[in-house]
Amino acid sequence: MITRIVVAEDDASIRELLVHHLEREGFRCEEAADGPAALRLARGGADLLILDLGLPVVDGFDVVRALRREARDVPILVLTARSEEIDRIVGLEIGADDYVVKPFSPREIVARVKALGRRAGLSSTQAPVVLRFDRLEIDEAAREARLDGIDVGLKPREFALLLELASNAGVALSRASLLQRVWGFDFEGDARTVDVHVRRVRAKLDDRATGSGLLQTIHGFGYKFARG
Ligand code: CA
Repeated sequence: MITRIVVAEDDASIRELLVHHLEREGFRCEEAADGPAALRLARGGADLLILDLGLPVVDGFDVVRALRREARDVPILVLTARSEEIDRIVGLEIGADDYVVKPFSPREIVARVKALGRRAGLSSTQAPVVLRFDRLEIDEAAREARLDGIDVGLKPREFALLLELASNAGVALSRASLLQRVWGFDFEGDARTVDVHVRRVRAKLDDRATGSGLLQTIHGFGYKFARG
C-alpha cells in the first residue's frame, strides 16, 4: 500500500500542486527540489517516488539508476517535459515504472499513483487481478472480460484498452494517452484507431448489457470508464 510519497520536482509550483492533490487523497508527501534530496528521501523508505527527470545537481535518470543499483524496488513515476526522453523511459532503460509527460493534470497523476499502488500490492500478494463493476468482471490474468460470468470475447487489444480505462475508472483519458498506453509509441495509427476499438468493445459489452454506458465519450478529448 502506498502511504508515503516523495515528490521530487524543482519547479515549486508543480511540486506544490502535486502535493496538494495527493494529500487531499490521503497520501503523505515529502518534497525534494533536487536529486540529492530525492535520493535521501527515497532511501528513507518511501512507498513511491514521483520524479522529475530534469532535476538540479543529480538528474532524474541518475537518481533512478542509483536506486536500482542499490536494489531498491520503490515504484517510480517519472515526470518528463521532453517527448524525446520517452523512448529511453519506455524502453525501461532507466528502470522507472510509469511516466507522465508535462503538462499533465494532477488528477492523472493521482490516478497513476493509485494504479501503481494496486500493482505493487498485487505483486506482493500474488493475488489474481480481477476488477469488478456490477455485472462486468475484468480478469487481467485470464485476459478476459466477463458479463454475468460469460466471456464477451474481446481481442487482445480490445481487452488492453478496456483494462486501461477500467484501471483508471472515473478518469478521462485522452485518445493520445490511450494510444501511447495501449498501442505504444512506435504505433503509426491515429486517434481514430482508439475510436474503432472503443466501438468494438462497446458492441461486445452491449450485446449482453444494453445501454451499460460504461465507456463514456468525452467529446473532443477521449474516453472515461464510468465509476460504478
Ligand atoms: Ca525540472
